Amino acid sequence: MAEFHYEKGDDGIAIITWDMPGKSMNVMTFDGLRELDQHVDTALADDSVRGVIITSGKKDFAGGMDLNALARMRDEAGENPAEGIFNGIMDIHRLLRKIELAGMDPKTKKGGKPIVAALPGTAAGIGFELPLACHRIIAADNPKAKLGLPEILVGLFPGAGGATRVPRKIGLMAAAPIIMEGRMQPPAKMKGIGLIDDVVPADKLIDAAKEWINGAKDADLVKPWDQKGYKFPGGAPYHPAGFQMFVGAAVMIHGKTQGVYPAARALLAAIYEGAIVPFDTALKVEARWFTKVLLTPSTSSMIRSLFLNKQALEKGAVRPKGVDDQRVQKLGVLGAGMMGAGIAYVAALAGIDVTLIDATQEAADRGKAHAEGILDGGIKRKKVTPEKKEQVLARINATTDYAALEGADLIIEAVFEDPAVKAEVTKKAEAVIPESCIYASNTSTLPITELAKASARPDQFIGIHFFSPVHKMNLVEIIKGKETGDRAVAKALDFVRQIRKTPIVVNDARFFYANRCIIPYINEGVRMIREGVEPALIEHAAQQFGMPVGPLQLTDETSIDLGVKIAKATKAAMGDAYPAADADEVLFKLFDEGRLGRKANAGFYEYDDKGKRTRLWPGLRENWPPLTEQPPVEDVKLRLALVQALEAVRALEENVLMDIREGDVGAILGWGFAPWSGGPFSWLDLLGAEQAVATCERLAETYGERFNPPALLRDLAEKGESFYGRFAPGEEKAA
Ligand code: NAD
Repeated sequence: MAEFHYEKGDDGIAIITWDMPGKSMNVMTFDGLRELDQHVDTALADDSVRGVIITSGKKDFAGGMDLNALARMRDEAGENPAEGIFNGIMDIHRLLRKIELAGMDPKTKKGGKPIVAALPGTAAGIGFELPLACHRIIAADNPKAKLGLPEILVGLFPGAGGATRVPRKIGLMAAAPIIMEGRMQPPAKMKGIGLIDDVVPADKLIDAAKEWINGAKDADLVKPWDQKGYKFPGGAPYHPAGFQMFVGAAVMIHGKTQGVYPAARALLAAIYEGAIVPFDTALKVEARWFTKVLLTPSTSSMIRSLFLNKQALEKGAVRPKGVDDQRVQKLGVLGAGMMGAGIAYVAALAGIDVTLIDATQEAADRGKAHAEGILDGGIKRKKVTPEKKEQVLARINATTDYAALEGADLIIEAVFEDPAVKAEVTKKAEAVIPESCIYASNTSTLPITELAKASARPDQFIGIHFFSPVHKMNLVEIIKGKETGDRAVAKALDFVRQIRKTPIVVNDARFFYANRCIIPYINEGVRMIREGVEPALIEHAAQQFGMPVGPLQLTDETSIDLGVKIAKATKAAMGDAYPAADADEVLFKLFDEGRLGRKANAGFYEYDDKGKRTRLWPGLRENWPPLTEQPPVEDVKLRLALVQALEAVRALEENVLMDIREGDVGAILGWGFAPWSGGPFSWLDLLGAEQAVATCERLAETYGERFNPPALLRDLAEKGESFYGRFAPGEEKAA
């Protein structure tokens, strides 16, 4: 069935409408490209056509390239994948260039047909690169519309001309947030930046496009870069101003990415090299760099985790089959502290009625005020309207009265981390809520199976574990207790979908999944302090591996008293098997000195009066003098990376994790595991099991038994297999 439709009007204007059958959002496929190509040919060859409008039959224009198709491109590119991919991309460039030149005489630049992009809503990726090749871009003033090029966020760059056209149109500085940070913008903003031409009322979109076509002259169709004497805005690299700008951009990108994201480097190279050659050669340069990025193994891993599998999980890939719709109508939240208030806010924002309970009315009101604070921040940034704020707040009923929970279909408990307090509120709530209501705890450390003992309906008892701050962190860990039934899992998943976060489902075990992996990361960093590794080396090595924050900064953020509390509880529970005693000496010393982390304005770091981190605390080097011979930075990186990844493997071996896709997506969203790698399992696959085992053995010998390779990793190495080869469902084995 056709993805693009062609219709010629009596007024001599052809309208090409993008409208993929059976999809709510258009995405570009290879079939779609062929159809568009034919329609453009038809319009250009037909003398009775004076102009063309490219628009969409849906509320949005397009979401971008079909990344499934892109992921398959490499496998289907034949014996010489680089050549196959390069040729495929050049075909796209030829089509877009055909639109841009629109049949004009190559010498006189006359006689072309005006082609206008008319965008009813969001246009992303190639869905914005196609308009960029048109002669005019008109967008509807749709408040939900976002325009832009977000490819860099999944490890690619705008490779259908975006990297070449955007900086040539508006200069490198203005282009940076759009192409290097993937920031999507509303139409009015895009007009201000100069990337689109007009914003008109939605019902005037096609009329406005026609009007422009009717008045268009030959000169209006010639892009700046096709005119004589074109100059790169802000200066090309060999111009003194341009030189400075390019050097600055290279530094900025390296500072932000630490050199681990191949797409960011390739993008800058494509722009730099493209800027010193004619436009058509620049497109070729862009295609070569894009091919290189697509052929880099970590790119496939990143697309797989951050796009394909993340989306699959959000759509319910692990939802129990045969359970009917469990969307939440009325949510009860017990405990209006930091977490409970955050949960109440995100639920109310998603249109769910919330009863927010705390021990005193004052505490309950404080929880609701937290939501108000976030909404006020949104109003300041013009993201939220005052009406929206009122609507959201009206959905939150802050009270101390458990009777108000009547009719709730989901409860999330977020009271103090104390089994006795939790048991008490479970009983109180169950006395009021309907029998069918599902009950969840947001505990971060207490086993769900144990907490469920306080419940009269343990099959309806589950863990729904949020990360802090709730309104910013997108991962939600759902924990199945021994007796948790399918309906509870479905309820938790449907709720997470309602609030537009990404779920993973794991089995009950100490620290579940995310905290289980992040704690060893923190401990490894702290342990190195005691060994005499330079604190700055620890932090930099972590970031060079691709972690968003080093282990010492992370400890300061989550607070040192929390670390001490967890250490004490874990030690009590594990006895002699407790693995982190070396780290505790450092942690306890900071605790004793009142250096509790960011909240105390003192921790592993020093802070100024405004709470800004200023430098690593010199006391670290005084208390634990640095070794005269520091370990190689590679070893520090590997230690910090492997402690996390090996813990993830053990979680899989022990069936805490049931699906490696969840292990990878959860690691990136939950604690920021090097996103470039696609997650711990993808990273180990990139390394190769054999190499990973050899590295583990070397580190185990030098730094301790915790690096001993888990049996599963050894087995993969012996059999020459990979995690995704063995465990990924269906077609993803090939990715
Ligand atoms: P908090 O201390 O900020 O809030 C707890 C709230 O529960 C307080 O407002 C308190 O008044 C209320 N409360 C205590 N006893 C109550 C009772 N009997 N009835 C009604 N309300 C009562 O704590 P928090 O950080 O929001 O943590 C809450 C839960 O979430 C804990 O189980 C914690 O382990 C878990 N958690 C915390 C984080 C985090 O980063 N803080 C992350 C994930 C999970």
